[in-house]
Amino acid sequence: MTTARTELEGQVAAKGLALGTARVVYSTKIDVETEPLPASGVPNEVKRFEGALKTARTELAQLSGKVSGALARDLSEIIDAHALILDDPEFTDAVVALIRKDQLRATAALKRQRDLLAEAFDAIDDPYLRARRDDLDHVVSRVYAALARGGAEPERKPSAEGQILICDTVPPAELTQLAETGLRGLICTASSPYSHTAILARGLRLPFACGVKHALAVVHEGDTILLDADQGRIVVRPDNIDLSRFRTQQKEAEKLRKQRARVKVTDARTRDGVAIKLYVNAENADVIAAARRAGADGVGLFRTEFLFMKRRELPSEDEQFRAYRDGIVAMAGRPVTLRTLDLGADKAIGGPLDIGAEENPALGLRGIRYSLARREIFATQLRAMLRASAYGPMRILLPMVSSVEEVREARELIERCTDEVRRSRHPVADAIPLGAMIEVPAAALVSADISRHADFLAIGSNDLAQYVLAADRNNAAVSANYDPLHPAFLRLLYLVLDNARQAKRPISVCGEIAGDPRYTPLLIALGLTEFSMHPSALADVRDSIAVLSRKTLKNKAARLLHAPDRASLAEVVDAMAAG
Ligand code: PEP
Ligand code: MG
Repeated sequence: MTTARTELEGQVAAKGLALGTARVVYSTKIDVETEPLPASGVPNEVKRFEGALKTARTELAQLSGKVSGALARDLSEIIDAHALILDDPEFTDAVVALIRKDQLRATAALKRQRDLLAEAFDAIDDPYLRARRDDLDHVVSRVYAALARGGAEPERKPSAEGQILICDTVPPAELTQLAETGLRGLICTASSPYSHTAILARGLRLPFACGVKHALAVVHEGDTILLDADQGRIVVRPDNIDLSRFRTQQKEAEKLRKQRARVKVTDARTRDGVAIKLYVNAENADVIAAARRAGADGVGLFRTEFLFMKRRELPSEDEQFRAYRDGIVAMAGRPVTLRTLDLGADKAIGGPLDIGAEENPALGLRGIRYSLARREIFATQLRAMLRASAYGPMRILLPMVSSVEEVREARELIERCTDEVRRSRHPVADAIPLGAMIEVPAAALVSADISRHADFLAIGSNDLAQYVLAADRNNAAVSANYDPLHPAFLRLLYLVLDNARQAKRPISVCGEIAGDPRYTPLLIALGLTEFSMHPSALADVRDSIAVLSRKTLKNKAARLLHAPDRASLAEVVDAMAAG
């Protein structure tokens, strides 16, 4: 089995760039039933074939209900074309005749008629008409699958998240299902730019290269694939240089896309035109891909501790690498912020990472403190992250920072790990921004100094509020005390935002208030332009931003910062929401 880098070429069927892992599907050969058919069995065999035709028609009809919008139009044309073949006597009557006259089993008759028609299609000069042969094959496989299954339900396809499919041809309907579960791209040895699969792939914005003759011979399941469907170029098992070129191409494509889009769905803008970035807090590749489709500007917080929970053993470097890489690939060119392990307090776990009982876990060995105390665990995680950086823009974020020293120590360790990873011949991106979470009051107070050592900041407002207000975020008895509308909390928030602004460092808020539209006017008034939230909050926050004017809100910031108590603060916030 070769593991060397290989280049392949094909035709452009649907433009776009994709990076993913190969899912290789060899053509489903029609397994023809060869046993002789006795004359007495003929009526039954005809019935079987007609039953399969009926199933195929029902499946086609069910498909139309599954998509909407412009895609529905594309798909309905395809469904109509396939339904026509299913009703075409040249096809169906001919198969029945073969069963009756030649006493062939249904599958054998189906194959013989398919071969006859395929030959006729191949002889056609017009490429558009020749491409209809694909449709014939897709209909034949649908009928064949129905025959093979008998009355059974079709199997559900496994998720295709982060994958690039390599096959001979794929039926359009199957492509829709695969795209729904996160397929990144398609490479076919056959098919054509005129095929219905290509039309649909364009509608789905799924990069597709067809006519890539040797793809099935060269690609192995799980190989990394770089698909440049703008040029019809494929790199199998890309090297360092390919990956870095790909990142540049991806950036350029993203820039161009932004320039071209007159009204960009992803853009959140205030009424007076200030661009606001909306990131998501997410760690599952499926959720990340969905958030990207919903217009997220990136992942602002990937909580890596979830990988370490509910298990007896530590996740290996490889396992972590795959999880981070999949998240990065799913965000397809927009930045993903991986937060290093934040265990401790409410996130304490058993097993090999057990911290042991602590009197005050929230004030204990949490976040970066834990990582710096258990360096071998930290270094493994950093190496996994550094390896994942080759797959798209990525940032590293340190939780529970309370001093400049912690950031410095972490950066030194990252540099050492980068050398190690490069020495083991894994590519690492050139510049990986390192950020500090500001969620401990000490860090907030020295945020100007931290800004000199960190490339960006992220305010963990959930923890910052609990530490400033001395109110456990998980204790219902003090929930009234845990209130972001407290003058102390807001003034500290402003101090951090202002320090980051002066140091010209990007800064976001990634606690729950960022996804709560009640706090949107207040945060914009204090100067925030980057929010990170649960994906389900994206649409609401985007809508509430659209009706706000930053200029008007900024004029009210002084009143906000001088409000002495909750009641007067609430009054200002209500006035802000009213415009
Ligand atoms: C926060 O503290 O606001 C935060 C985003 O981190 P977590 O909720 O994971 O502690
Ligand atoms: Mg936190």
